[in-house]
Amino acid sequence: MGSIVILDENTANQIAAGEVIERPASVVKELVENSIDAGATAITVEIKNGGISYIRVTDNGCGMESDDVELAFERHATSKIRRIEDLDRLTTMGFRGEALASIAAVSRVEVRTKTASEQAGTLVALEGGKVISVSQTGCSTGTTIIVRDLFYNTPARYKFLKKDSAEAGYVSTMMVRLALAHPGISFKFVNNGQVQHHTPGNRDLISVIYSLFGSETAKAVLPVEHEESGIRISGFVGRPETARGNRNNQFFFINGRTIRNKALTAALEDAYKTLLMQNKFPFCVLHVKISPELYDVNVHPQKLEVRFSNESAVYMAVFHAVKGALSSASLIREVTSPEYEAQESAAFQAAPPEQVSLESQDKPAPKLPPPQRLQVPWEPSARTGAKADMVADSRFEASEAAKPVPELALPKPGQAQAPLKDLFGTGEPAEPIEPVTERDRGAQVLREAEIIGQVFDTYIILQHGHTMYLVDQHAAHERIRYETLKKRISEGQSFSQVVMEPYIVKLSPEEYDFLFSRMADFEKAGFEIESFGPQTIIIRSVPDIPGGFALDDFHEILDRWMATAGEKSGISDEAIYMMSCKSAIKANRRMEKDEIKALIDQLLSTENPYTCVHGRPVIISISQRELEKRFKRII
Ligand code: ADP
Ligand code: MG
Repeated sequence: MGSIVILDENTANQIAAGEVIERPASVVKELVENSIDAGATAITVEIKNGGISYIRVTDNGCGMESDDVELAFERHATSKIRRIEDLDRLTTMGFRGEALASIAAVSRVEVRTKTASEQAGTLVALEGGKVISVSQTGCSTGTTIIVRDLFYNTPARYKFLKKDSAEAGYVSTMMVRLALAHPGISFKFVNNGQVQHHTPGNRDLISVIYSLFGSETAKAVLPVEHEESGIRISGFVGRPETARGNRNNQFFFINGRTIRNKALTAALEDAYKTLLMQNKFPFCVLHVKISPELYDVNVHPQKLEVRFSNESAVYMAVFHAVKGALSSASLIREVTSPEYEAQESAAFQAAPPEQVSLESQDKPAPKLPPPQRLQVPWEPSARTGAKADMVADSRFEASEAAKPVPELALPKPGQAQAPLKDLFGTGEPAEPIEPVTERDRGAQVLREAEIIGQVFDTYIILQHGHTMYLVDQHAAHERIRYETLKKRISEGQSFSQVVMEPYIVKLSPEEYDFLFSRMADFEKAGFEIESFGPQTIIIRSVPDIPGGFALDDFHEILDRWMATAGEKSGISDEAIYMMSCKSAIKANRRMEKDEIKALIDQLLSTENPYTCVHGRPVIISISQRELEKRFKRII
């Protein structure tokens, strides 16, 4: 007898389940997508033990006719397509007709469902894919599916599940993605009896962000709206201070589907270049609307990865969308102190006068008692950040999961619009004809601000209205130099300055070769260099940029340029950063008021006056109110 047999249907379903159903989060995804396809406007997901022992998904969608319920659990049972041609026109989330069959094959399932036209609902119970009971039940229109004991009959798969808290984290992340993808649906997620998030379903994306990540984040995002080459980008990106040490808070959607794609991530992060410190990743919720023929989502069984037919068009659209949002915003970081209250008692006991440490980059104040560190909002350890972690980090730990998560005060549908607008902190633009951006207003304020002076020979103090601004003079000058250089290089302007005493440098053979192989780039950058004997060069001109150019720095810049040069010609960004930083006004230098004024004016004419090229802040602000709070004039 031959050894080939046809697998029985149940075994086939169990195998198929392996493709679609990997863990509780995938069950939740499939069930919620079915609810969305059923037209639900409110979906509740409840899990216990990370979803391993219990998952319940309840929706107020169209429900299933009693005759259809059992059929829905058959493999290739779907109400969504009839023929292969339908695939092209598909707008629903699922279509392969195997999710329910796959889930049922590896768990114990209970379905309660009723359509609007039926009087009574239907209750069907299945175990390991087999129907064990069918009965009538009283229930409201819609569907509730309970999945118990996932993988109880497939131990090999059960073994691959992580601990409950980790699985709960995956489900939570999945729910965050689903909620962000569908602002028009109210999602409620309950974990071990506690509501983790609840979105209003009022179609307003900022309300969803508010519900999921809290008011701190919702206050710190910038709206994105852009259309280019038929690709529409909308959503929100975070101000630089909301950036995190990983990419967990980056959410991309293509036509309502959560996806991952390297080009999108690159476009986002390139738009933030020089706004963020190294290893900091921006927050984003970006919806991309693009014609379905222009991409393929079936690359991955769980439809997460996507391939575009014209990737560079999508890259450009996202890049410009984000860049536009960032460049019309004022990105001054405000110093507030969420931890201040908590720390104050300890500080008072420790007695010495309070030191407000604002994290000087260049030199910590020497020989002073250890400063009391006030958390400034962009610091990674700030508590505000930790809160966002807890909701969205897919690996939130048991201890955190156990903490009660207060249910957020939800804006009521329809009501949310008005108060949430205030989150942006600025009123409507005064001029209706020519829109004044937040950025323009910010620059105007700084231009008008009174120069108070300088502290520590390092920070410039300005005052305008009820706000004090502190400008890091070195960072400011670095930014000015960087933008000048970048602009002149990209526009091919000649901006050399002849040096009084030509500078002669001896180079290594590699350095010498590199320099002469890239001579055109060096000229573009403003250098005039000639050979001056074996491995020796003479520099006759240097880039003419604000603050001048110290020839002593040439070697260091050359080193950086070599270390970061690509195959192609052109000067690396890193080399430009280095050139901007060297010879920029140093910290610890006294500046006169007119010099300060000139610096501020130049700074405000840059494209991004808010961070230095390394992503450190250039300007921070402290409100009078904040100072009054610290001096206990107000509480
Ligand atoms: P698919 O979604 O690919 O069609 P599924 O196995 O996920 O396949 O679901 C099978 C069918 O069951 C769906 O086509 C739909 O008709 C029905 N169904 C599943 N979940 C629901 C629900 N929550 N509300 C109404 N109908 C549902
Ligand atoms: Mg489905």
